[in-house]
Amino acid sequence: MKQVHVAQNPPEAYLIKGFLEANGIKAVVQGEDLFGIRGGIPVTPSTSPSVWVAEADVAEATRLVEDFFRAEVEHQEVSWRCANCGEMIEGQFTECWNCGTSRDADLLQESSDDPDESA
Ligand SMILES: [Zn+2]
Repeated sequence: MKQVHVAQNPPEAYLIKGFLEANGIKAVVQGEDLFGIRGGIPVTPSTSPSVWVAEADVAEATRLVEDFFRAEVEHQEVSWRCANCGEMIEGQFTECWNCGTSRDADLLQESSDDPDESA
């Protein structure tokens, strides 16, 4: 077995385990029993719960974990500006509260000045 991820806490370790298994990779969590008894000991890689997979799955699992955290970051944007009315919108909303424009609208409209009559 090889370690592919060191988690901040047991729920994160199990989140990764479940994510990998949903993608067809058998994973195990090790070290989570240490989490409950170490009390005020600072978090270090040696005492944090970690996710392990078979050596044959390491490359695929590493790529999946990277994708997992990249997706998390992309969904934690602090705020965005509405392309239609210019309002600043908090990151948890996907549409402008003021005019209903989608968060992705600016990406679609930026490359062309022509009105999109087919839409
Ligand atoms: Zn708007």
